[in-house]
Amino acid sequence: AKRQGKNRYCIYDFALAMEFNERLRIERSLKQAIRNDELALEFQPLIDLQTSRVYGVEALCRWYHNELGMIPPDRFIPIAEQSDVIVDIGSWVLRESCRVLRGWMDSGLPELKVSVNVSARQLTDSRFAALVSRVLTEFNIAPEQLELEITETALQANEQILRQLEHIHKSGVGLAIDDFGTGYSSLSRLKELTFDRVKIDRSFVRDLPHSSNDIEICRAVMALCQVLSLQVTAEGVENHEQLDMLRELGCHCIQGYLFSRPLRPELLADWIRQTDI
Ligand code: C2E
Ligand code: CA
Ligand code: CA
Ligand code: CA
Repeated sequence: AKRQGKNRYCIYDFALAMEFNERLRIERSLKQAIRNDELALEFQPLIDLQTSRVYGVEALCRWYHNELGMIPPDRFIPIAEQSDVIVDIGSWVLRESCRVLRGWMDSGLPELKVSVNVSARQLTDSRFAALVSRVLTEFNIAPEQLELEITETALQANEQILRQLEHIHKSGVGLAIDDFGTGYSSLSRLKELTFDRVKIDRSFVRDLPHSSNDIEICRAVMALCQVLSLQVTAEGVENHEQLDMLRELGCHCIQGYLFSRPLRPELLADWIRQTDI
């Protein structure tokens, strides 16, 4: 029994070492990822329930590593966020999103909004607002067509972040609070800064319509947003039961596998052309 215990310890140790090793490799090669053209974007449709139409898409980053294969953002974004690498990745994502949007419009696709995820560290860089306006000009995109998604946790940070966001918002760019309900100090943030949209985190949608707690949480968020004139998008909608419940609760917008997974740009364009929701 003793020996088995020791073995188990070894296996655990080995797994830990592997994980550490992988993290190191990710950290090192992340810097090369942009230069080597290994990053790509997928886009997931955002559906407006009132008009039953796609009002926009969320840009989601993918990394195709030459040895490790596809690395999902949950694995590399948190590592990138620990250094300034996230600033370069974030700039690339913003520019690429606008480039793709311009391409869609030039090919005759109806006007869409593009939502881009932004990390706290990007916002502490004082050049971020200038970057946003430069990219919009470069691709001739109206500020109203861009929405930035910021998590509650990122908003906790500081005064400088709030001021920069305010400046960007005044130019017409939309602001959304991402993963709403998972961070904290949500209510005070809503008061300090004008947002346009709240995205209800997938964890509150998953157990609808069976969890009465989640129903009440969603109902409360919806009521709050109505008072503050904010749009609400629920993420992670995978089935009709969830959709029906959210509709009943007065939710405006939906995102989830029920409609579509995130798709490469060409496929997303095809999807929009073919879909009549
Ligand atoms: P997020 O911003 O909350 O994005 C939504 C995530 O939920 C995406 O995961 C999307 O694929 C997934 N999702 C959408 N609908 C469903 C559904 O019906 N069921 C399930 N199970 N999942 C659904 P993804 O693409 O793996 O991205 C994970 C996270 O990585 C994002 O969460 C975001 O926090 C981060 N991320 C992705 N791209 C970027 C980026 O360019 N910049 C930054 N800063 N973060 C990013
Ligand atoms: Ca998001
Ligand atoms: Ca989210
Ligand atoms: Ca989420």
